Amino acid sequence: MHAIVIGAGIGGLATAGALRSEGHEVTVIERSEAIEPIGAGISIFANGFRALDELGLADRLRHPIDPALRTLQRTPGGDVLAELPRDPSREFGVLHRADLQRALLERASGARLLLGVGARVEGACGAVVASRAGGEDAGELLSGDLVVIADGIRSRNRATVTAEPGVRYSGYTAWRAVTRHPVDLSDAAGETWGFRERFGIAPLPDGRVYWFAVASLPEATRFDDEFAEVRRRFEEWHAPIPALLDATHPASVLRHDIHDLARPLPTFVRGRCVLVGDAAHAMTPDLGQGGGQALEDAATLGNLVGDGADLDAALAAYDALRRPRTQSIARRARSMGRIAHVGWRPVAALRDTAIRMTPTAALARAAAAVGVWEPPARTVGA
Ligand SMILES: Cc1cc2nc3c(=O)[nH]c(=O)nc-3n(C[C@H](O)[C@H](O)[C@H](O)COP(=O)(O)OP(=O)(O)OC[C@H]3O[C@@H](n4cnc5c(N)ncnc54)[C@H](O)[C@@H]3O)c2cc1C
Repeated sequence: MHAIVIGAGIGGLATAGALRSEGHEVTVIERSEAIEPIGAGISIFANGFRALDELGLADRLRHPIDPALRTLQRTPGGDVLAELPRDPSREFGVLHRADLQRALLERASGARLLLGVGARVEGACGAVVASRAGGEDAGELLSGDLVVIADGIRSRNRATVTAEPGVRYSGYTAWRAVTRHPVDLSDAAGETWGFRERFGIAPLPDGRVYWFAVASLPEATRFDDEFAEVRRRFEEWHAPIPALLDATHPASVLRHDIHDLARPLPTFVRGRCVLVGDAAHAMTPDLGQGGGQALEDAATLGNLVGDGADLDAALAAYDALRRPRTQSIARRARSMGRIAHVGWRPVAALRDTAIRMTPTAALARAAAAVGVWEPPARTVGA
Protein backbone atom coordinates (compact mmCIF):
# COMPACT_ATOMS: atom_id res chain seq x y z
CA MET A 1 0.00 0.00 0.00
CA HIS A 2 1.20 3.54 -0.73
CA ALA A 3 0.23 6.28 1.74
CA ILE A 4 0.68 9.97 1.08
CA VAL A 5 1.06 12.05 4.26
CA ILE A 6 0.52 15.79 3.96
CA GLY A 7 2.44 17.70 6.64
CA ALA A 8 5.50 16.73 8.67
CA GLY A 9 4.46 18.00 12.11
CA ILE A 10 4.00 15.66 15.08
CA GLY A 11 0.85 14.12 13.53
CA GLY A 12 2.25 13.58 10.04
CA LEU A 13 5.66 12.25 11.10
CA ALA A 14 4.16 9.94 13.74
CA THR A 15 1.66 8.54 11.24
CA ALA A 16 4.38 8.09 8.63
CA GLY A 17 6.40 6.12 11.22
CA ALA A 18 3.41 3.99 12.20
CA LEU A 19 2.65 3.13 8.56
CA ARG A 20 6.32 2.48 7.75
CA SER A 21 6.55 0.03 10.61
CA GLU A 22 3.61 -1.85 9.07
CA GLY A 23 5.73 -2.16 5.92
CA HIS A 24 3.87 0.36 3.75
CA GLU A 25 5.35 2.70 1.20
CA VAL A 26 5.00 6.28 2.49
CA THR A 27 5.50 9.70 0.88
CA VAL A 28 5.55 12.68 3.25
CA ILE A 29 4.98 16.12 1.71
CA GLU A 30 5.97 19.18 3.75
CA ARG A 31 5.75 22.74 2.51
CA SER A 32 8.62 24.04 4.68
CA GLU A 33 12.04 23.81 3.08
CA ALA A 34 13.46 21.98 6.11
CA ILE A 35 12.25 20.16 9.19
CA GLU A 36 13.81 22.62 11.61
CA PRO A 37 14.11 21.84 15.30
CA ILE A 38 11.42 23.88 17.05
CA GLY A 39 12.59 25.69 20.13
CA ALA A 40 10.20 24.99 22.97
CA GLY A 41 8.98 22.23 25.23
CA ILE A 42 5.97 19.96 25.05
CA SER A 43 4.15 18.19 27.90
CA ILE A 44 3.44 14.54 27.33
CA PHE A 45 1.05 12.69 29.64
CA ALA A 46 0.57 8.95 30.18
CA ASN A 47 -1.58 8.62 27.03
CA GLY A 48 1.09 10.29 24.90
CA PHE A 49 3.77 7.96 26.29
CA ARG A 50 1.46 4.99 25.67
CA ALA A 51 1.15 6.10 22.03
CA LEU A 52 4.94 6.56 21.85
CA ASP A 53 5.29 3.01 23.24
CA GLU A 54 3.17 1.79 20.37
CA LEU A 55 5.33 3.74 17.94
CA GLY A 56 8.45 2.16 19.47
CA LEU A 57 9.79 5.47 20.81
CA ALA A 58 8.80 5.81 24.46
CA ASP A 59 11.92 4.22 25.94
CA ARG A 60 14.10 6.64 24.04
CA LEU A 61 12.08 9.67 25.15
CA ARG A 62 11.18 8.69 28.70
CA HIS A 63 13.28 10.29 31.42
CA PRO A 64 13.10 9.77 35.15
CA ILE A 65 11.50 12.69 36.99
CA ASP A 66 13.22 14.05 40.09
CA PRO A 67 11.25 12.42 42.96
CA ALA A 68 11.53 15.66 44.98
CA LEU A 69 9.78 17.75 42.30
CA ARG A 70 6.33 19.01 43.40
CA THR A 71 3.59 20.11 41.02
CA LEU A 72 1.97 23.21 42.46
CA GLN A 73 -0.77 25.59 41.50
CA ARG A 74 0.19 29.00 42.88
CA THR A 75 -0.87 32.63 43.00
CA PRO A 76 1.42 35.34 41.56
CA GLY A 77 2.57 36.06 45.13
CA GLY A 78 3.61 32.42 45.52
CA ASP A 79 0.81 31.14 47.79
CA VAL A 80 0.07 27.49 47.09
CA LEU A 81 -3.51 26.90 45.99
CA ALA A 82 -3.08 23.17 45.42
CA GLU A 83 -0.48 20.47 45.11
CA LEU A 84 -1.03 17.54 42.79
CA PRO A 85 -0.08 14.31 44.58
CA ARG A 86 2.66 12.21 42.93
CA ASP A 87 1.39 8.98 41.47
CA PRO A 88 3.95 6.90 39.61
CA SER A 89 1.16 5.25 37.57
CA ARG A 90 0.23 8.64 36.12
CA GLU A 91 3.15 9.31 33.89
CA PHE A 92 4.10 12.82 32.87
CA GLY A 93 7.12 14.26 31.14
CA VAL A 94 8.27 17.37 29.35
CA LEU A 95 10.31 16.96 26.19
CA HIS A 96 12.15 19.41 24.04
CA ARG A 97 10.15 19.51 20.81
CA ALA A 98 13.33 19.09 18.78
CA ASP A 99 14.00 15.74 20.51
CA LEU A 100 10.48 14.49 19.82
CA GLN A 101 10.67 15.65 16.22
CA ARG A 102 14.07 13.99 15.69
CA ALA A 103 12.81 10.68 17.10
CA LEU A 104 9.66 10.78 14.95
CA LEU A 105 11.69 11.59 11.87
CA GLU A 106 14.02 8.65 12.46
CA ARG A 107 11.02 6.36 13.03
CA ALA A 108 9.68 7.41 9.62
CA SER A 109 12.95 6.51 7.91
CA GLY A 110 12.45 4.90 4.53
CA ALA A 111 9.60 7.29 3.76
CA ARG A 112 10.09 9.52 0.71
CA LEU A 113 10.28 13.06 2.04
CA LEU A 114 9.36 15.97 -0.25
CA LEU A 115 10.40 19.25 1.39
CA GLY A 116 9.49 22.74 0.21
CA VAL A 117 6.46 21.23 -1.51
CA GLY A 118 2.83 22.16 -0.94
CA ALA A 119 0.20 19.43 -1.32
CA ARG A 120 -3.38 19.77 -2.48
CA VAL A 121 -5.84 16.89 -2.53
CA GLU A 122 -7.52 16.66 -5.93
CA GLY A 123 -11.26 16.04 -6.24
CA ALA A 124 -12.04 12.57 -4.95
CA CYS A 125 -9.50 11.55 -2.34
CA GLY A 126 -6.62 9.49 -3.65
CA ALA A 127 -4.81 11.95 -5.91
CA VAL A 128 -2.59 14.70 -4.57
CA VAL A 129 -0.96 17.54 -6.46
CA ALA A 130 2.47 18.36 -5.06
CA SER A 131 3.83 21.76 -6.11
CA ARG A 132 7.14 23.33 -5.21
CA ALA A 133 6.56 26.46 -3.12
CA GLY A 134 6.55 29.47 -5.45
CA GLY A 135 7.00 27.12 -8.43
CA GLU A 136 5.37 27.99 -11.72
CA ASP A 137 4.77 24.42 -12.90
CA ALA A 138 1.42 22.67 -12.54
CA GLY A 139 2.83 20.31 -9.92
CA GLU A 140 3.41 16.57 -9.78
CA LEU A 141 0.32 14.36 -9.55
CA LEU A 142 0.77 11.61 -6.97
CA SER A 143 -1.64 8.82 -6.27
CA GLY A 144 -1.92 6.84 -3.08
CA ASP A 145 -4.14 4.15 -1.61
CA LEU A 146 -4.43 6.33 1.48
CA VAL A 147 -4.08 10.11 1.93
CA VAL A 148 -3.31 11.28 5.47
CA ILE A 149 -4.13 14.97 5.90
CA ALA A 150 -1.93 16.24 8.75
CA ASP A 151 -1.48 19.84 7.64
CA GLY A 152 -2.35 21.49 10.95
CA ILE A 153 -5.03 23.77 12.38
CA ARG A 154 -5.23 25.93 9.24
CA SER A 155 -5.43 22.89 6.98
CA ARG A 156 -6.05 23.70 3.34
CA ASN A 157 -7.09 20.11 2.64
CA ARG A 158 -9.60 19.54 5.46
CA ALA A 159 -12.38 20.82 3.19
CA THR A 160 -12.00 17.75 0.94
CA VAL A 161 -13.17 15.62 3.89
CA THR A 162 -15.88 17.81 5.40
CA ALA A 163 -17.24 21.35 5.44
CA GLU A 164 -14.58 23.74 6.77
CA PRO A 165 -15.47 24.84 10.34
CA GLY A 166 -12.93 27.67 10.53
CA VAL A 167 -10.92 28.47 13.63
CA ARG A 168 -11.91 30.59 16.62
CA TYR A 169 -9.75 32.73 18.84
CA SER A 170 -9.71 31.73 22.50
CA GLY A 171 -9.23 35.29 23.79
CA TYR A 172 -5.67 34.64 24.97
CA THR A 173 -2.17 34.52 23.58
CA ALA A 174 0.89 32.54 24.67
CA TRP A 175 4.63 33.21 24.79
CA ARG A 176 6.93 30.25 25.41
CA ALA A 177 10.61 29.43 25.53
CA VAL A 178 13.26 27.17 27.00
CA THR A 179 15.91 28.71 29.24
CA ARG A 180 19.50 28.81 28.00
CA HIS A 181 20.78 26.90 31.03
CA PRO A 182 19.44 24.99 34.04
CA VAL A 183 17.60 27.10 36.64
CA ASP A 184 17.01 26.09 40.26
CA LEU A 185 13.26 25.56 40.72
CA SER A 186 13.46 24.79 44.46
CA ASP A 187 11.77 21.48 43.63
CA ALA A 188 8.53 23.04 42.41
CA ALA A 189 6.95 23.24 38.95
CA GLY A 190 3.35 23.77 37.81
CA GLU A 191 1.18 26.76 36.98
CA THR A 192 0.61 30.16 38.53
CA TRP A 193 -2.73 31.82 37.89
CA GLY A 194 -3.25 35.56 38.14
CA PHE A 195 -6.06 37.68 36.79
CA ARG A 196 -6.36 36.88 33.07
CA GLU A 197 -2.69 35.88 33.10
CA ARG A 198 -0.90 32.58 33.72
CA PHE A 199 2.66 31.34 33.91
CA GLY A 200 3.73 27.68 33.60
CA ILE A 201 7.01 26.06 34.62
CA ALA A 202 8.21 22.61 33.48
CA PRO A 203 11.78 21.32 33.79
CA LEU A 204 13.36 19.46 30.86
CA PRO A 205 15.42 16.31 31.48
CA ASP A 206 18.70 18.28 31.12
CA GLY A 207 17.75 20.85 33.80
CA ARG A 208 16.82 23.65 31.41
CA VAL A 209 13.28 24.87 31.95
CA TYR A 210 10.37 25.17 29.53
CA TRP A 211 8.12 28.07 30.51
CA PHE A 212 4.96 29.51 29.03
CA ALA A 213 3.20 32.78 29.77
CA VAL A 214 -0.41 33.37 28.77
CA ALA A 215 -2.43 36.60 28.77
CA SER A 216 -5.92 37.64 27.66
CA LEU A 217 -5.52 40.03 24.72
CA PRO A 218 -7.42 41.03 21.60
CA GLU A 219 -6.53 38.78 18.68
CA ALA A 220 -3.39 39.70 16.69
CA THR A 221 -2.14 42.28 19.22
CA ARG A 222 1.56 42.83 18.52
CA PHE A 223 4.28 44.44 20.64
CA ASP A 224 7.44 46.09 19.35
CA ASP A 225 9.37 44.03 21.87
CA GLU A 226 7.51 40.83 22.75
CA PHE A 227 9.95 39.78 25.46
CA ALA A 228 9.79 43.19 27.13
CA GLU A 229 6.01 42.70 27.32
CA VAL A 230 6.46 39.31 29.02
CA ARG A 231 8.86 40.91 31.50
CA ARG A 232 6.48 43.80 32.17
CA ARG A 233 3.67 41.38 32.97
CA PHE A 234 5.46 38.64 34.90
CA GLU A 235 8.77 39.81 36.37
CA GLU A 236 7.18 40.75 39.70
CA TRP A 237 5.68 37.27 40.08
CA HIS A 238 7.04 34.76 42.59
CA ALA A 239 10.46 33.10 42.32
CA PRO A 240 11.78 31.53 40.16
CA ILE A 241 9.78 33.31 37.43
CA PRO A 242 12.10 36.37 37.25
CA ALA A 243 15.13 34.04 37.19
CA LEU A 244 13.57 32.04 34.34
CA LEU A 245 13.09 35.21 32.34
CA ASP A 246 16.68 36.28 33.06
CA ALA A 247 17.87 32.91 31.77
CA THR A 248 15.95 33.24 28.48
CA HIS A 249 17.36 34.51 25.21
CA PRO A 250 14.79 37.06 23.94
CA ALA A 251 15.13 35.78 20.36
CA SER A 252 14.10 32.28 21.45
CA VAL A 253 10.66 33.36 22.66
CA LEU A 254 7.78 32.11 20.51
CA ARG A 255 4.43 33.88 20.50
CA HIS A 256 1.12 32.36 19.32
CA ASP A 257 -2.46 33.49 19.59
CA ILE A 258 -4.44 30.46 20.78
CA HIS A 259 -7.16 29.07 18.53
CA ASP A 260 -9.14 25.88 18.21
CA LEU A 261 -11.58 24.59 15.62
CA ALA A 262 -14.77 26.64 15.64
CA ARG A 263 -16.92 23.49 15.47
CA PRO A 264 -16.22 19.79 15.98
CA LEU A 265 -16.04 17.93 12.65
CA PRO A 266 -18.83 15.48 11.74
CA THR A 267 -16.25 13.05 10.32
CA PHE A 268 -12.48 12.57 10.12
CA VAL A 269 -12.70 10.35 7.01
CA ARG A 270 -13.89 10.59 3.46
CA GLY A 271 -13.15 7.79 1.02
CA ARG A 272 -9.42 7.12 1.39
CA CYS A 273 -8.65 10.51 2.96
CA VAL A 274 -8.17 10.71 6.72
CA LEU A 275 -7.55 13.68 9.01
CA VAL A 276 -4.90 13.46 11.73
CA GLY A 277 -3.70 15.83 14.48
CA ASP A 278 -4.65 19.51 14.54
CA ALA A 279 -6.22 19.27 11.08
CA ALA A 280 -8.82 16.99 12.69
CA HIS A 281 -9.20 18.39 16.19
CA ALA A 282 -7.10 21.47 16.93
CA MET A 283 -7.64 22.29 20.60
CA THR A 284 -6.41 24.98 22.96
CA PRO A 285 -3.28 23.89 24.87
CA ASP A 286 -4.93 24.20 28.30
CA LEU A 287 -4.67 20.46 28.98
CA GLY A 288 -1.35 20.04 27.13
CA GLN A 289 -2.95 17.42 24.89
CA GLY A 290 -2.84 18.55 21.23
CA GLY A 291 0.41 16.74 20.48
CA GLY A 292 -0.55 13.75 22.64
CA GLN A 293 -3.77 13.36 20.68
CA ALA A 294 -1.85 13.54 17.39
CA LEU A 295 0.38 10.70 18.68
CA GLU A 296 -2.72 8.70 19.65
CA ASP A 297 -4.16 9.29 16.16
CA ALA A 298 -0.98 7.95 14.57
CA ALA A 299 -0.74 4.85 16.77
CA THR A 300 -4.46 4.12 16.28
CA LEU A 301 -4.32 4.50 12.52
CA GLY A 302 -1.16 2.40 12.24
CA ASN A 303 -2.68 -0.45 14.26
CA LEU A 304 -6.06 -0.36 12.51
CA VAL A 305 -4.58 -0.23 9.00
CA GLY A 306 -2.15 -3.02 9.90
CA ASP A 307 -1.19 -4.84 6.72
CA GLY A 308 -3.73 -2.79 4.75
CA ALA A 309 -6.01 -5.71 3.97
CA ASP A 310 -9.24 -3.81 4.75
CA LEU A 311 -8.62 -0.11 4.52
CA ASP A 312 -12.27 0.96 4.49
CA ALA A 313 -12.99 -0.88 7.74
CA ALA A 314 -9.82 0.52 9.29
CA LEU A 315 -10.79 4.10 8.43
CA ALA A 316 -14.35 3.66 9.71
CA ALA A 317 -12.99 2.27 12.99
CA TYR A 318 -10.48 5.16 13.22
CA ASP A 319 -13.27 7.70 12.88
CA ALA A 320 -15.42 5.93 15.47
CA LEU A 321 -12.57 5.72 17.99
CA ARG A 322 -10.89 9.07 17.53
CA ARG A 323 -13.70 11.57 17.06
CA PRO A 324 -15.50 11.23 20.41
CA ARG A 325 -12.30 11.19 22.45
CA THR A 326 -10.53 14.10 20.78
CA GLN A 327 -13.64 16.26 20.64
CA SER A 328 -14.39 15.70 24.30
CA ILE A 329 -10.80 16.63 25.23
CA ALA A 330 -10.99 19.75 23.03
CA ARG A 331 -14.17 20.79 24.86
CA ARG A 332 -12.56 20.27 28.24
CA ALA A 333 -9.44 22.17 27.20
CA ARG A 334 -11.50 25.16 26.15
CA SER A 335 -13.46 25.11 29.43
CA MET A 336 -10.22 25.00 31.37
CA GLY A 337 -8.99 28.05 29.45
CA ARG A 338 -12.21 29.92 30.23
CA ILE A 339 -11.81 29.21 33.94
CA ALA A 340 -8.16 30.28 33.88
CA HIS A 341 -8.94 33.55 32.08
CA VAL A 342 -12.21 34.49 33.74
CA GLY A 343 -12.76 38.19 33.11
CA TRP A 344 -14.10 39.40 36.45
CA ARG A 345 -11.88 39.72 39.53
CA PRO A 346 -14.44 38.54 42.14
CA VAL A 347 -15.07 35.39 40.09
CA ALA A 348 -11.31 34.81 39.77
CA ALA A 349 -11.05 35.07 43.58
CA LEU A 350 -13.89 32.55 43.98
CA ARG A 351 -12.15 30.26 41.52
CA ASP A 352 -8.96 30.35 43.59
CA THR A 353 -10.91 29.59 46.76
CA ALA A 354 -12.60 26.65 45.05
CA ILE A 355 -9.20 25.27 43.95
CA ARG A 356 -7.87 25.69 47.50
CA MET A 357 -10.82 23.75 48.91
CA THR A 358 -10.89 20.94 46.34
CA PRO A 359 -9.43 17.73 47.76
CA THR A 360 -6.10 16.98 46.07
CA ALA A 361 -7.27 13.49 45.13
CA ALA A 362 -10.12 15.02 43.11
CA LEU A 363 -7.68 17.41 41.37
CA ALA A 364 -5.39 14.51 40.57
CA ARG A 365 -8.28 12.41 39.21
CA ALA A 366 -9.39 15.26 36.95
CA ALA A 367 -5.83 15.83 35.71
CA ALA A 368 -5.28 12.12 35.08
CA ALA A 369 -8.65 11.40 33.40
CA VAL A 370 -7.51 12.16 29.85
CA GLY A 371 -4.24 10.30 30.42
CA VAL A 372 -5.94 6.90 30.47
CA TRP A 373 -5.76 5.46 26.96
CA GLU A 374 -5.03 2.17 25.25
CA PRO A 375 -4.46 1.73 21.51
CA PRO A 376 -6.66 -0.68 19.54
CA ALA A 377 -5.24 -4.10 18.74
CA ARG A 378 -3.20 -4.39 15.54
CA THR A 379 -5.15 -5.65 12.53
CA VAL A 380 -3.61 -8.51 10.59
CA GLY A 381 -5.17 -10.04 7.46
CA ALA A 382 -8.80 -9.88 6.50
C1 LIG B 1 1.34 27.56 22.82
C2 LIG B 1 1.10 26.09 22.57
C3 LIG B 1 1.49 25.15 23.52
C4 LIG B 1 1.26 23.80 23.31
N1 LIG B 1 1.64 22.90 24.26
C5 LIG B 1 1.39 21.59 24.09
C6 LIG B 1 1.80 20.63 25.08
O1 LIG B 1 2.42 20.98 26.09
N2 LIG B 1 1.50 19.31 24.87
C7 LIG B 1 0.85 18.88 23.73
O2 LIG B 1 0.63 17.67 23.59
N3 LIG B 1 0.47 19.77 22.78
C8 LIG B 1 0.73 21.10 22.92
N4 LIG B 1 0.36 21.99 21.95
C9 LIG B 1 -0.35 21.50 20.75
C10 LIG B 1 0.61 20.85 19.75
O3 LIG B 1 1.69 21.72 19.48
C11 LIG B 1 -0.16 20.58 18.44
O4 LIG B 1 -1.36 19.90 18.73
C12 LIG B 1 0.67 19.70 17.52
O5 LIG B 1 1.93 20.29 17.26
C13 LIG B 1 -0.09 19.49 16.20
O6 LIG B 1 0.70 18.76 15.31
P1 LIG B 1 0.19 18.55 13.82
O7 LIG B 1 1.23 17.68 13.18
O8 LIG B 1 -1.20 18.10 13.79
O9 LIG B 1 0.19 20.00 13.15
P2 LIG B 1 1.38 21.01 12.85
O10 LIG B 1 2.45 20.92 13.86
O11 LIG B 1 0.75 22.33 12.60
O12 LIG B 1 2.02 20.47 11.48
C14 LIG B 1 1.41 20.66 10.24
C15 LIG B 1 2.50 20.63 9.16
O13 LIG B 1 1.87 20.66 7.88
C16 LIG B 1 2.60 21.52 7.03
N5 LIG B 1 1.69 21.93 5.97
C17 LIG B 1 0.61 22.75 6.09
N6 LIG B 1 -0.03 22.84 4.92
C18 LIG B 1 0.64 22.06 4.04
C19 LIG B 1 0.44 21.73 2.67
N7 LIG B 1 -0.58 22.20 1.98
N8 LIG B 1 1.33 20.90 2.07
C20 LIG B 1 2.38 20.40 2.77
N9 LIG B 1 2.61 20.67 4.07
C21 LIG B 1 1.74 21.48 4.70
C22 LIG B 1 3.07 22.63 7.95
O14 LIG B 1 4.18 23.32 7.41
C23 LIG B 1 3.41 21.84 9.21
O15 LIG B 1 4.75 21.41 9.22
C24 LIG B 1 0.60 23.36 22.13
C25 LIG B 1 0.23 24.29 21.15
C26 LIG B 1 0.48 25.65 21.37
C27 LIG B 1 0.06 26.64 20.30
